[in-house]
Amino acid sequence: MAATAASATAALQWTHAGHPGWEPDRAWRREVRELARRRDAVLLAHNYQLPEIQDIADHVGDSLALSRIAADCAARTIVFCGVHFMAETAKILAPDKTVLIPDARAGCSLADSIDAEQLRDWKGEHAGAAVVAYVNTTAEVKAEADICCTSSNAVEVVNSIPVEREVLFLPDQFLGAHVQRVTGRSNLRVWAGECHVHAGINGSQLAAKAAAAPEAELYIHPECGCATSALYLAGEGAVPAGRVRVLSTGGMLDAARATRAREVLVATEVGMLHQLRRAAPGVEFHAVNDRASCRYMKMITPAALLRALREGVEEVTVPADIARRARGAVRRMIEIGQPGGEE
Ligand code: SF4
Repeated sequence: MAATAASATAALQWTHAGHPGWEPDRAWRREVRELARRRDAVLLAHNYQLPEIQDIADHVGDSLALSRIAADCAARTIVFCGVHFMAETAKILAPDKTVLIPDARAGCSLADSIDAEQLRDWKGEHAGAAVVAYVNTTAEVKAEADICCTSSNAVEVVNSIPVEREVLFLPDQFLGAHVQRVTGRSNLRVWAGECHVHAGINGSQLAAKAAAAPEAELYIHPECGCATSALYLAGEGAVPAGRVRVLSTGGMLDAARATRAREVLVATEVGMLHQLRRAAPGVEFHAVNDRASCRYMKMITPAALLRALREGVEEVTVPADIARRARGAVRRMIEIGQPGGEE
């Protein structure tokens, strides 16, 4: 069965808890690894995946790191444990490989906040502007963009565009505000999209958590709705500026390995805690909001992964003309910035 962007989008209207029915026990692990070997498949898992999916994967990382691996790996099949736009990006970069997503209903509320027609209308209002699309977009939207970015390289991508040229940045308003602040560009227009998970992490929660743990460092992901207010609070002295770090998820892992703090508060999706705890077992990591969990990411259950490998489903396809146009924007993203190691 071929999975399209439309099927992922339709999934947003469904109430879905993923494919149930398998415990991630030793028999499951053995069968997953054996089937992956027989299919000549590489298992890629995003940082926000369930811990058992992260642990069985060949590679765990953010969008940028996983895109690079998808483009370069020798395996004939890529099993992408993440959300639909990520698997689509892998297919765009590796058109000759079979790309499977264990549950094609794993969409993304941020990617769904703009479609290709809306982008074409926006471009029509800003003739000559460069379009920077966050990687959390559908293939159709990427095909309308000049260059893609992730949270790891968004600032570098925008800085690569001549300062006099207007920039349309989409779809994440929080990442856009972060980039606007860091680059100081007044000609950067930001689409008002948001992710339901990150938008749920707010400044008052952050301030209360910070006050309750005065010795803890604070790691903030630029996609979080709390980034602006956290920096504002730091500037006001409510949270000491030295405790606040605005980091990509890959940057968080590097900081975790190097920190001397015993406790760290983390403002991002809770799946990231698994990687952080593995990277720095001696540090206590706490989520700013325990409910900041992406329901789409969690659709990739152990049963869904096993089904994908047993049955060769669900195959991700991208029409050739859209893939060709999107590939240029994605490749330019990959050329700028270093792998984050881990959205
Ligand atoms: S956490 Fe938000 S941006 Fe990431 S996949 Fe889920 S809905 Fe999309």
